[in-house]
Amino acid sequence: MIRADMHTHSEFSGDSKAPAEGQVKAAIESGLSWYTFTDHLDLYMPLCEQEDGSIGNAFILDIPAYTKEVARIRDKYKDKISVFTGIELGLLDKAFPDYRRILNETPFDFVLGSIHTVADMDPYFPEYWKKYPGKKGVILYFETMLDCIESFSDFDSLAHLDYIIRYCQDEKENPVLRDYEYSVFGEIIDEVLKWVIKNDKALEVNTAGFKYGLDRPNPSLQVLKRYRELGGERITIGSDGHKKEHLFYDFDKTEELLISLGFKYYEVFKKRKPVSIRLGE
Ligand SMILES: [Zn+2]
Ligand SMILES: [Zn+2]
Repeated sequence: MIRADMHTHSEFSGDSKAPAEGQVKAAIESGLSWYTFTDHLDLYMPLCEQEDGSIGNAFILDIPAYTKEVARIRDKYKDKISVFTGIELGLLDKAFPDYRRILNETPFDFVLGSIHTVADMDPYFPEYWKKYPGKKGVILYFETMLDCIESFSDFDSLAHLDYIIRYCQDEKENPVLRDYEYSVFGEIIDEVLKWVIKNDKALEVNTAGFKYGLDRPNPSLQVLKRYRELGGERITIGSDGHKKEHLFYDFDKTEELLISLGFKYYEVFKKRKPVSIRLGE
């Protein structure tokens, strides 16, 4: 059984209402040994309408309040589970100086690197696909990812590599490319995977893909297979759960898949240092 969820959200993220302590209680009940909070920080994300109708950025993290609350929970449940303070950074050129400063000032256990903004837009919204429909939008996303990681590498695991596929649309707003062949984006994904391996990062296996009806994690099995072929071994596993019922989503299925692809270990992080745990135990 996979005993660590390395990608989780709580009410400290603008898109979650889940109390942080409730998330950890759910993890304890499910028999997890490690729980890592990775709430969102996306500086300079394009502004959009908030729940209260105002315009703003929902992905600003109150770091002092967050780290204080995680420390309190870690202490309270220390006999039952190991709780870690991570962060999910939305990688974006103009945010890199701020991120460098923040990571210097705050002793996080784990940093996820994610691409949530492409060409000043959030690909979650249809406006992105109106401008860059289908394949065009996906390629632009991977190009942006490569540019970002080449200029900012202070993260531990590259998150949800092909999650953009969930939202991909053509000009007429029809979902497209949900089940893409590796070769369609192979050239650019190869470059990203080689960068991950060369720079000694982990690749995240994000199980939210199952929840979104893709019937697979992100990245796809073909991408994970290619990562192995290229020599990639290091992975972290995360549910990206924003509610307690979405934590450790389909971890059983994921473990079988990873073993069948030849992965032997997954990693957890403490003070930015990886610890390997054997799959299937
Ligand atoms: Zn994300
Ligand atoms: Zn996330």
